[in-house]
Amino acid sequence: MERLGQAVGAENVKTAPEDLAVYAFDAYSDGKPPSAVVIPSQTREVSAVVKIARALGEPVIARGAGTGLCGGAVSIQGGGVVISFARMHRMLELDVPNRRARVQPGIVNLHLSQQVAASKLFYAPDPASQRSSTIGGNIATNAGGPHCLSYGTTVNHVLALEVVDERGEVFTTDIDDAGYDLTAALVGSEGTLGIVASAWVRLLRMPESTRVWLAAFPSIESASEAVSAIVGAGIVPTALEMMDAVIVKAVEAAFAAGYPTDAAAVLLIENAGFEDEMNACEAAIERLALANGALSWRAARTQAERDALWAGRKGAVGAIGRIAPNYYTQDVTVPRSALPKALRAVEVAARENDLVVGNVFHAGDGNLHPLLVYDKRDRRQVAAVLSTGNAILNAAIDLGGTISGEHGIGYEKRDAMTRVYSAQDLAAMARVRDVFDPEHALNPEKIFPAGTRCVEVAPPQ
Ligand SMILES: Cc1cc2nc3c(=O)[nH]c(=O)nc-3n(C[C@H](O)[C@H](O)[C@H](O)COP(=O)(O)OP(=O)(O)OC[C@H]3O[C@@H](n4cnc5c(N)ncnc54)[C@H](O)[C@@H]3O)c2cc1C
Repeated sequence: MERLGQAVGAENVKTAPEDLAVYAFDAYSDGKPPSAVVIPSQTREVSAVVKIARALGEPVIARGAGTGLCGGAVSIQGGGVVISFARMHRMLELDVPNRRARVQPGIVNLHLSQQVAASKLFYAPDPASQRSSTIGGNIATNAGGPHCLSYGTTVNHVLALEVVDERGEVFTTDIDDAGYDLTAALVGSEGTLGIVASAWVRLLRMPESTRVWLAAFPSIESASEAVSAIVGAGIVPTALEMMDAVIVKAVEAAFAAGYPTDAAAVLLIENAGFEDEMNACEAAIERLALANGALSWRAARTQAERDALWAGRKGAVGAIGRIAPNYYTQDVTVPRSALPKALRAVEVAARENDLVVGNVFHAGDGNLHPLLVYDKRDRRQVAAVLSTGNAILNAAIDLGGTISGEHGIGYEKRDAMTRVYSAQDLAAMARVRDVFDPEHALNPEKIFPAGTRCVEVAPPQ
């Protein structure tokens, strides 16, 4: 461990139990403390740390802000060297004419948009955790967010990567490279194929006009019908978010954001573009919302009103703290047309397990986030959460959906991989991993089902 101190400065290596204990958690799970946490300041140091960790026989786990919801950034069995990117949080270059920026992985998502705002640019993928989650973590999980409905998820906004491999060697990828698109292969790989040391990301020009609307509905079904009608009419708003009554009440209590507390569901809709286009769009969306049973329709006319509505949506998960001390967020995706059925399945599963559930989600792309609220100290409730989460997962699969929309697989869902992938599918993924990381030194125990080393996943017949 002394060698780690020589590489990054002793003050940037944590080995005291009280320091390590903090790194046994992310926003989902309790893991075990690692052997050491190292906080490098540049790529050269990341490379040195990986080499030393490997020489010590320790696996390496990259860590951004620890907001992950699938246990991705924690050591499950204990041990390993965690590389925290807390000191690598700068924008290194801004290329305004080409609308791109080179950033260190620890830069906080929102800080990037704030730093380029003066150039009338922004970074589009905006997970609800954007005030704290990092671009490195977003790349590793291929994070989504409300605005990914029309702009696409993180993979659509990463142009090039500087990566430290499992031997500590540095390589680069670029989406303009001929041949295999290794940039896309690394995005969403959850730190198992390489460690992102810097990235060129795409920036977008701020739109001329941004409109935000709020529609209240008497039922989740009618709100879901409105979502289908809007998208079916060929309108792809920049965001189309749904919140049910449980969430709206918690949000209003926490933020007084201006949501109607008497509705069963609300849709927060945003669109952006040219002024004229937005006028026509507003009329069309309002008509479709009302035709599908909206009880009320409101346009946010000022920036302050728009900000308040978005603050409520992005703070919704935190607001749940007003209902119970703990929550579990399920993350599944279903075809948009199956939303009403999926939401009914969520309701039934929660009711059967006597749990309160709140729904806040990216309705436009069928990505559900049922929030199961509970008290961790009550074993019955913990068992109920597990059972409900599992039932929701199965319902999503039965409806033609999948086991994660954006939070990733990590530790939490690795066993569920066999429910959606055949042995052949998993073997193909395992072979990719073996090419990048033959000894499984990078973030082991993640993505692949427990009890299998990648090589043990049955090869295709
Ligand atoms: C309140 C709340 C709301 C959320 N909303 C959303 C949402 O709307 N959309 C969404 O997609 N997610 C959401 N999340 C989940 C989470 O914020 C995202 O998964 C986010 O991308 C994680 O970023 P992080 O910096 O916290 O990464 P961490 O949690 O630290 O790590 C996540 C994964 O990335 C890997 N990793 C981190 N940095 C690197 C690196 N430099 N190189 C290689 N691997 C790395 C880790 O090993 C781990 O596997 C939310 C979470 C919370 C708590």
